[in-house]
Amino acid sequence: MEFLSRDKLKETIEHKQLFIDGQFVDSASGKKFAAFDPSTGETIADVAEGDERDVDLAVQAARKAFEEGPWPRLAGAKRGKILAKLADLMEAKIMDLSTLETLNNGMPLQATMFMTNAAIDVIRYYGGWADKIAGKTLKGDGDVHAYTLYEPVGVVGAIVPWNFPVYLLVCKIAPALVCGNTMVVKPSEQAPLTALWIAKLALEAGVPAGVLNIVPGFGPTAGAAIARHMDIDKLTFTGSTNVGRLVMNDAASSNLKQVTLELGGKSPFIICEDANLEVAAFFSHLAIFFHQGQVCLAGSRVFVHESVYDAFIEKAVAMAKRRVIGDPLKIEVEHGPQINQAQADKILSYIESAHAEGARLVTGGKRIGDKGFYIEPTIFADVTQSMTIAKEEIFGPVLSVLKFKTLDEAVKLANSTSYGLAAAIFAKDIDTVNFLSRSIKSGIVFVNSYFSAGPGIPFGGYKMSGIGRENGYEGLLPYLQTKSVVMPL
Ligand code: NAD
Repeated sequence: MEFLSRDKLKETIEHKQLFIDGQFVDSASGKKFAAFDPSTGETIADVAEGDERDVDLAVQAARKAFEEGPWPRLAGAKRGKILAKLADLMEAKIMDLSTLETLNNGMPLQATMFMTNAAIDVIRYYGGWADKIAGKTLKGDGDVHAYTLYEPVGVVGAIVPWNFPVYLLVCKIAPALVCGNTMVVKPSEQAPLTALWIAKLALEAGVPAGVLNIVPGFGPTAGAAIARHMDIDKLTFTGSTNVGRLVMNDAASSNLKQVTLELGGKSPFIICEDANLEVAAFFSHLAIFFHQGQVCLAGSRVFVHESVYDAFIEKAVAMAKRRVIGDPLKIEVEHGPQINQAQADKILSYIESAHAEGARLVTGGKRIGDKGFYIEPTIFADVTQSMTIAKEEIFGPVLSVLKFKTLDEAVKLANSTSYGLAAAIFAKDIDTVNFLSRSIKSGIVFVNSYFSAGPGIPFGGYKMSGIGRENGYEGLLPYLQTKSVVMPL
């Protein structure tokens, strides 16, 4: 496939300003920040840098659109139609949107296309809910009749990370908008460009001015301004557990806005003695190396039954060595760069800690080249639960393989983390599958598979992986208030 050169691609980047009240505008400070290409380290665009003042203007626009504008008052079916149009517009631009995303965050284009498609599915899914959000008729005490009404929460503030800028943005805007809310969104400073483009497409699709505002900027300024704002009714945050704690504090100490948190993970795979090892090795490879391990549900800890441990390692190493590493804009490439220098350094320091603590490196372990931020697909065997790489979220292409003897031991090891986002079980025996899926403390458990669930399946964390759920019917509820209307019969 033929692509424009990087220089030509840079020239095609149109939207670099804040998007407030249906207009692209400069920031109050006039400051800009650089958006980078992680595969070269070079600047691809200078983007307007929003701060507290810009967040405040965006909140005013969102508040006006909520109190006075048509959006919350439209018939649900009309909002659904507009979301369906947005999905169509994104689909028509899928190649350009995915290319821009890859240029800005280094996700291999084949993975980005998959994720942009998944984002479009999420919009269509929530568009389909538009005319089906209804309360219930209830029976109260004595002669009391009651019913519940679902109402939008109001102005929603959303803070999004860089790893899947389009998909994670859409997981927030689709359910929030379909319920009739208005929004102020801060994309990550590492990857702000696609969110601005989607806001423009939303306007074209018929989302009125002021309903969806995008303020690129840094976390401690623009992000904190959203978390602390007294006129934002709800905060939805996806990012690290540490920053999740900060924004929850800010939400609590300002106006007690409701909070949904989608945070980090250290997801376990449990590979039992009767597992189909080909299937287990395939999904384990995908789960840790997709987007270079920069995935909240990366399968970063694999617990393998002692009887199949060596055979699994042999397969896992062979697959890691075959991985096609290179320019993420090339469609055949499977493994691109990490997002930035700081992240690459952090991953390399985890690799050093694994050596120092006695893990056995079986493949990878090194930085590749001196341009961009590439790290080899890396696997450590003979990892034990006390090692740093088995406990902390690395957010990079580093797999820890641990051995177990009994299912009870596997459960204990899998659950011995402060995270609880996702898990996978590979086994044929149904009693084993049932026992493990009920014993593991995580928001989603995949059996003999990984990643593919679809927009109708709720996703979110137990323990320090988060609060609330995205996707599915559960993903609508955080954007609705329940009002009970009660009357005597
Ligand atoms: P991060 O927490 O550093 O940043 C996330 C967002 O928060 C960014 O937009 C950032 O600018 C903003 N931010 C930073 N400091 C802030 C502050 N003080 N106040 C308000 N906002 C602030 O995370 P990241 O590095 O962008 O993303 C990686 C993390 O996200 C990983 O931990 C990963 O597991 C997690 N993640 C979770 C999910 C999920 O669905 N559970 C999905 C993707 C990523």
